[in-house]
Order: sequence, then C-alpha cells, then structure tokens
Amino acid sequence: MRVSHRIANLTDGGSDGWEVFDHARKLVADGAEITELTIGEHDVGTDPVILEAMHAAAMGGHTGYASVPGIRTLRQTLAERYTERTGVPTDIDNVVITPGGQSALFAAHAGCCDTGDTGLHIDPYYATYPATIRGVGAHPRAVTTRSRDGFQPQKDVLNAAAEGARSILINTPNNPTGVVYAPETIRNICDVARDHDLWIISDEVYDTQVWAGEHLSPRMISGMADQTLVVGSMSKSHAMTGSRVGWIIGPKEMISHLIDLSTCTTYGVPGYIQDAAEFALKQGRKLEEKIAAPFRRRREIAKRLLDRQNVIKLIPADGAMYLMLDIRATGQSGEAFAWHLLERERIAVMPGESFGKAAAGHIRVAMTVEDDAFETALQRLCAKAEEMAA
Ligand code: PMP
Repeated sequence: MRVSHRIANLTDGGSDGWEVFDHARKLVADGAEITELTIGEHDVGTDPVILEAMHAAAMGGHTGYASVPGIRTLRQTLAERYTERTGVPTDIDNVVITPGGQSALFAAHAGCCDTGDTGLHIDPYYATYPATIRGVGAHPRAVTTRSRDGFQPQKDVLNAAAEGARSILINTPNNPTGVVYAPETIRNICDVARDHDLWIISDEVYDTQVWAGEHLSPRMISGMADQTLVVGSMSKSHAMTGSRVGWIIGPKEMISHLIDLSTCTTYGVPGYIQDAAEFALKQGRKLEEKIAAPFRRRREIAKRLLDRQNVIKLIPADGAMYLMLDIRATGQSGEAFAWHLLERERIAVMPGESFGKAAAGHIRVAMTVEDDAFETALQRLCAKAEEMAA
C-alpha cells in the first residue's frame, strides 16, 4: 500500500511515548486497580449547567451545519474576552472557531509553514507537537530547555535555533512541565521572533490555570499581535475535553485564510456545542475558578509532601494540571521509574522521556484524581523514590 510520506512519518519512526499509559489502560480494562496520573483529563465531567445549555441548543434546532468561521455570537464573546483580559483590541474577524485546540494547532501551522519549512517547538513538549508540524509537511526543530533553568527557554538557544525557521510554537502555562513562562522569557521569544521574522504560535489552552505569577501572552507585547496566533480551547478551562471546541486568535488576513482552510477540512463545529461554549464563557471567572480549584488544591498537597523529602525535586509548578518531578537522584530514567511504579505500586505516571529528551530523568504527574487518592499516591511515589535512592 502506498501511504503518503507525510502521514506515514508522523512520528518519525519513533515511539509515540504512550506505552506506559496504554499498558495502564489495559490493566484497568482487565480489572486492576490503578491510580492513573497520566493524561490531562479532569476527574469531574463537564458541568451540568453547560450540558443543559448544550441540550437546550440541540433541542432548539442547532443541529444543522453551523457557520464555518464559527457562530458570530461565540466569536464576539471571545473577541470581548481577549480584549478585556489582554488589553489587545480584538474583534470577530480576529477569531476562527475550531474543533478543539489540537486542530487549531494543526491549522495554525498550515497557515504559517510551507512544505519543507522548519517549525520550532520547545523541548519538553506536549506529545503531539512534532507530529503536528510534520503533518503540514514542515520539519520540527526542537529548542532544548533545561531542568536547572526551570525549563524556561534561554535567549541564546532560541536565537541559534531560529536561523531559517518559519514559526515557533510555545506553550504557557506549560504541559508537561507546569511551568509558567516569566515575562522575560516571553520578551526574549518575541525579540527572537521579530529578529528572525517568525510566526509565534502560542498555545494558551491552560491560561485559566495559573497558580503563581501571571499569564503573559506574546500577543500582548507591543507590535507582536501581527505575527502571533493564539490557540485556545474549552477543554481545560471548562472541562469540555470531549466537546472539541477551540479557536485561533490572530491577524485578520491570516484568520480569513484559516477560515478557507476550515471550509475544506472541518467544515465547522456543531452549533449546539458552540452555543454551550458561549454559555460557559459567559459564566465568567467564577465557573473557571471552580474548574481550576482542584488542581490548585492538589498542587498545595504536593508541595507539602515533597517539602518533607529531598530525593525528588519539584520543578516550579506554577500552572496547568501537572507536576514535573526530577527523579534523577533515584538513579533511574523517567521511563524505568514509571514502569516500576506501575508494576509495583499500581500508580501510572508519564515518563518525562515521552515529552522529549530535555525531560529525561523526570516524570509527569497529572493532578487528576480526587485529593485523598492523590495524596496517598504521592506518598507512595516518594517512598519508592527514597527506597531507590538509598
Ligand atoms: N495543547 C496542549 C498543551 C495540551 O495539553 C492539549 C491537550 N492535552 C491540547 C493542546 C489540545 O487540547 P484540545 O484539542 O482538547 O483543545
């Protein structure tokens, strides 16, 4: 069978990094009790008030083809939200609705990169990034960050990587590290993007989950709105992962091309889902804070527990629903540690190596089980690490 090179090589022949997760899911399916701290899925479902709005919209007849760029009132709501929260004037022609953040990432790269171009991404990275860049026919180039810099990209490394590239994909608050980029990091990224004429694709799907510091978007830096595409989503902010609704905010000319792209790829997002998203956004910060609260609480639990030992190092966990733990003092790789934890302790975490070379010797812990189970799992994880390091 002849499969296009582009599709056949999405993972570049490498592992997709999901082996521990897949095995944990298989054990669960076979009846084992596993504490799953793997993927970024809330332990609560979509709030019933949002589901009621969705139901009402569907019953009200919003089940036909919806407007491809997105329903005007949802785009308007987002335009107002971005204007208010970022201070950057944004109107509906700066907004296109997409089926989730992932398809927005794909569309954004399709908008920025031609076949054979180079798209930068930061390592460690959300697992789909390199394949997303390959998916549009471009070449991913990793910008390595270091654990000892708190995984904040450094200007010299950015500058060296930027030579000849077309775009840079960043993500703050960050998955997998839980790091929020410092204002200086954002300014450095903008300087490099300006100097090398790069598009910035700014994945901000965790922008409502900031526990320390502040979320700063490169689009807010003077002069950068014309070369920045912001990717957003209802998945994390409103626990609507399965609804598949997200967006891109960008310059009007680019957005009009991305709308043409939507016509020939997704043909829009179901109207009743968009109505539910609009309803959810109009509930304001109160609902977002309710959805974010469990992660804020669990981060405190984790900090308290991790403060009591000195084998595992917590990377500053300032945002998103994850903790990145440096377990190198155990003498194990992230992968070996994760397998061991799964087999001996029935706790599933993601090896750092699943997110790139820069996170080797680390594990990512998703704070996605209820508080008591989370605390017990972390205690056992720490005990195991201490035993290995002894
Ligand atoms: N970006 C990041 C950093 C993510 O962690 C995720 C989901 N885990 C996405 C984008 C995609 O989210 P969705 O497609 O559900 O909006």
